[in-house]
Formats: sequence, C-alpha cells, structure tokens
Amino acid sequence: MNELIGRVFSFEKIVFPGSSDLYSKLANHGQSPKALMISCADSRVVPELIMQAQPGDLFVCRNAGNIVPPFATQNGGVSSTVEYAVAALGVRDIIVCGHSDCGAMKAVADPTGLEAMPNVAAWLRHSNAAQHVVNTGYPDLHGHERVRAISLENVVAQINHLRTHPSVAAALARGEMSLHGWFVDIHAGQILGLDGDSGQFTPLREGQPLPIAVTPGERRAAYFPVSEAAE
Ligand code: ZN
Repeated sequence: MNELIGRVFSFEKIVFPGSSDLYSKLANHGQSPKALMISCADSRVVPELIMQAQPGDLFVCRNAGNIVPPFATQNGGVSSTVEYAVAALGVRDIIVCGHSDCGAMKAVADPTGLEAMPNVAAWLRHSNAAQHVVNTGYPDLHGHERVRAISLENVVAQINHLRTHPSVAAALARGEMSLHGWFVDIHAGQILGLDGDSGQFTPLREGQPLPIAVTPGERRAAYFPVSEAAE
C-alpha cells in the first residue's frame, strides 16, 4: 500500500483516541468554525498548520489558485461554500490565501501548455484581472518577480470577487465581516497580509496590528435623513 494512504490507520488508533473529548464535543454540539480560509490546493500550503487550527476551528475551501469566482446564478462549489459558511455557520472572517511558487499563477503568467488542460485554462480566467493589472501596471517585471506580482494581485482580485457574493456583501454592509488577503512565502516560512488602507502586503508580526484587507465598518448607502424621506 502507498505509505501515505496507510497512515489513515494511525488516525483511528492514535489521533482520534487522543482527541476523543474534542471530537465528542464537536459531534454532539456541531461545528462553529471561527473563520473560512480559501487557499490554493498546493500540497505545501496547509491551512490548518498555518493557523495552528484544531478540528472545528477552520472552515476550508481549497482549489487551484485560491480562486473565488464572482457571484453568478450558475452554481459552483466555492460560491456554495462561501454562502454556507456565512449564512449558516455565521463565519465573520474570510481569508483568501495565496502563496509563492504557485503553479496556477505560473500558468496565468504563461499559459503555454494549458492546451491539454481545458478545465484549468477556463478556471484560471477568473485570474484575468490580476494578469491585466500586472501587465499594465508592472510592465517591467519578468520571470519570478512577475509571477509573484500576479500571485499578490490575484489575492486582491479574489477578494474583490468575494465582495460580489450577496451573503458577504450583506455582512459587510452590517459591519459584521472582515476580509483578509494572505500570501504564504513557502521559501521563508513567512505570511504576508494585505493592508486595505495602503493596498500593500506587509508581514504579519506578533504584537502588531493585523493587516486587514476589508475592515468591518457599517456601511449603508441608502441611509438618509428622515425629513427628506417624508418629502
Ligand atoms: Zn498554488
């Protein structure tokens, strides 16, 4: 048997018995995860490890390129996961997490070879905005630097898509939602966070304010004085 596949038995024999109280609580009372993380499917990016999360802590959605398609009437797995996390589970923090050396972002930078992967090619069109931002805004970048810029701008693009989802837009308008854009540098073991005020990524540092992409703040465009409403 594949050595990795065989490790499932140590979950049954060692891991589960060692956390039986936690699993019992989660099984009897259900889950109430503290955040949703949308990360790349890359095997080197492990959301639970990065967050030091226990079972029940983190709702996770992973796909090639940490992509969130913009809201549409067409059904989709990411859209359904976002909607369930926010509307049913009451998640109030969503993290879009990209990373260095991302194969999906390399394919966005150079689509050569995608002919044999029509689904991947179609999926990566959701990163077109990032590619265009870099092509026009960073025309002098090449190679690794260009891929890194596309990867960072892709996090921004997917957060923008996230805001088109009704459940997220409504929670933001009520001032009950924070959106986070993270980038894992798997060479340095460092996490960068998008600061919505500056529009730039800065390292997450213990003891310092957490950079947040979209901070919670009530915003209702249709508020107007009562006297005007009566007229
Ligand atoms: Zn990736």
